Amino acid sequence: MPYAEIIIEVANRKLDRVFHYRIPAELEQAIRLGSRVLVPFGNRVVGGFVTGFIEKTNFDNIKDIIKVRNATTFCTEELIKLAHWMAEYYMCPLSTVLQAMIPQVNNYVPTRSEQGVKLSINLQHHEIMAKFKNAPKQKALYEQLSTEGHMKVADLLNKTGASLYSLKVLAQKGIVEFYSWQEKDALTATEDPLPLTDEQQISLKYIKEAIDKRQFTTQLLWGVTGSGKTEVYLQALAYNRAYGKQAIVLLPEIALTEQMIERYKKRFGSEVVAWHSNLSSKKKSEAWAQIVSGQVSIIIGARSAVFTPFTNLGLIIIDEEHEGGYQQETAPKYHTREVALKRGELNKAVVLLGSATPSLETAYNSSIGHYQLLSLKTRVNRKPLPAVKIVDLRDELRQGNFSIFSNYLKQQISVRLETGEQTILFLNRRGYNSFFICRDCGYTIRCKACDISLTYHASSHDLRCHYCGYRQPAEKVCPNCGSLRIRGFGLGTEKVEQEVKSLFPEARIVRLDNDVSNKKGYRQELLKSFQEKKADILVGTQMIAKGLDFHNVTLVGVISADFSLNFPDFRSREKTFQLLTQVAGRAGRGIVQGEVVIQTYLPESDVLLYAQKQDFNEFYQKEIILRKELNYPPFCHIIRVLLMGENEEKVAKVCQGFAQLITSERPEIRDLKILGPAAAPITKLNNMFRWQVILKSEDLEKLRQFVAACLKRYHEQDYLAGQLRWSIDIDPIGML
Ligand code: ADP
Ligand code: ZN
Ligand code: ZN
Repeated sequence: MPYAEIIIEVANRKLDRVFHYRIPAELEQAIRLGSRVLVPFGNRVVGGFVTGFIEKTNFDNIKDIIKVRNATTFCTEELIKLAHWMAEYYMCPLSTVLQAMIPQVNNYVPTRSEQGVKLSINLQHHEIMAKFKNAPKQKALYEQLSTEGHMKVADLLNKTGASLYSLKVLAQKGIVEFYSWQEKDALTATEDPLPLTDEQQISLKYIKEAIDKRQFTTQLLWGVTGSGKTEVYLQALAYNRAYGKQAIVLLPEIALTEQMIERYKKRFGSEVVAWHSNLSSKKKSEAWAQIVSGQVSIIIGARSAVFTPFTNLGLIIIDEEHEGGYQQETAPKYHTREVALKRGELNKAVVLLGSATPSLETAYNSSIGHYQLLSLKTRVNRKPLPAVKIVDLRDELRQGNFSIFSNYLKQQISVRLETGEQTILFLNRRGYNSFFICRDCGYTIRCKACDISLTYHASSHDLRCHYCGYRQPAEKVCPNCGSLRIRGFGLGTEKVEQEVKSLFPEARIVRLDNDVSNKKGYRQELLKSFQEKKADILVGTQMIAKGLDFHNVTLVGVISADFSLNFPDFRSREKTFQLLTQVAGRAGRGIVQGEVVIQTYLPESDVLLYAQKQDFNEFYQKEIILRKELNYPPFCHIIRVLLMGENEEKVAKVCQGFAQLITSERPEIRDLKILGPAAAPITKLNNMFRWQVILKSEDLEKLRQFVAACLKRYHEQDYLAGQLRWSIDIDPIGML
């Protein structure tokens, strides 16, 4: 095809449409669907994505594509379809979606001897002569490789006497591709499947049936903590692979530890590749090259792995499907589950959602038969779930105990220290104190860029903003009234660590939260040392709440459940229940029965009582009624229009103007509800003031069209609109 359809990378909605460019002969081989290219645009050169090819164009003055930025990036027809769907669904420019979808990887360049290289295209004889007329080394490389198909890089260079540089040039031209050579193949699978429990077997049977049908099916594997969901995933993956089909396994970023990836590698060897944000750019390029080479059949990764350009996708697994981390926070603001379901539909694939505490949306969908429910009600080791005790901190105060530990928790920790069993202490807040306040005038130190209280960190003796990363030395004098009585208040993990140290000087304590550096896999080491019983107590944030499978932990202490319960969000009850159930699930995974202690000032909260029983069903039955009464998801859809700008007045004015426009319209949306305009809960972030309007309706399609039409009209009528940043959230998970 002589012409390409191109979406250019320009942040301007008006330019978010297809442009036509000619493909010059020398680029013909290198250009594919999804290629990132450079094209002339006006008097500039801009980046763009190839989204299609055409024979003819009716436009005049067609310009040439200048160059292909990377010969290895590509995507599939199906992903282009998905991108169009996402742009519409999430109301964002197609170029923004493509940017998120098509990775920016470098050409994978082998530096070690075990790299392989193979032909990616086969040329005709006359093409060879034309292409390599002045490049005999490249020609030699090409011819050698044509006879052998694929070779170890070192062998190829030896045989031809050509340099690595010449080979890289061939790769840049898209004629050859590098990949990891696995001759000795240290990465073959080493582990056999486990014999399944009855419950696991039944679940697997249904998954296999769904795979057999080769139709789009969604299933929810609801299994209590420690019920062996991963083993079910592994065997489902093996079954899917036996059909020659590919699979994507999605995990929340925090759960994507080496340990987890190892579990999959042991089963599937080098057919598994990991894809997440912690990969170095070199590792990323290598992973990409492996995917491109077609030797990978399973990808295990975080959010963006959902875009893996597989052409024969049969199964998508989303572990811990309720996790907030599946929501992308910047445009395109997609929810990974939503996108996975769409890919499942486009590929006629099975989508398997797994969780001990499914999101209300998912649980609702399974209750109405939309998703097939598969359940694992007992733990593999047949141990009961840990016993949970709720401790009323008000009683402790009355008894004169001002420590952050109740007497009961203190006593339980010391018992574990004696028996050599381990303890996990959980608090969903890092730092030393949660805020810094003047005892005389009540002034709190806030981040100037974000209007959020700063957190005191004792280790560095400074105050930090947990949203933008701003730091300043801790104040000694109140900037407001000059009082010296200014100090930290509230709790963070640093303080918990220090208090445990002073209470139990003989105990070996480790702390894990976002402040602990992750250089050279330090966090991993830390967890490993805890697993090897080189420490008695692990203190941490939600980072330690999930996925850890440590058999010697018999006590979990939740220092305070209140922070999460008091969060201003209709999902705070759900999130608290999930978090407490997950943390509780870390206890008693071995032979000895586990115990959980939850400390709170709100012991009568029904959420805590459900968490105590770890009974998802009971929680769900209550919560779903509340959601229905208050008209929240899953009974309606929400669109949040968020406006940001440096000038507060302007932001407020535009937001009010926009809200006025939408309220004066009379769309045919029977149940339309408009909330706001109002300042967002976080009124200022990174020096930007934030205002929002929230729209609710059952009919997302109509709601979206309405919002789109209003946005367009408002931009035409108010020139100020174009000076602000607009952000649209579809069914947002958090609305701060
Ligand atoms: P979940 O993800 O449901 O919390 P895991 O998948 O981590 O649970 O499994 C808990 C533990 O049980 C793991 O140590 C796992 O190796 C083990 N396990 C899972 N299935 C079996 C089985 N069928 N037989 C023996 N052990 C199993
Ligand atoms: Zn003061
Ligand atoms: Zn800040």
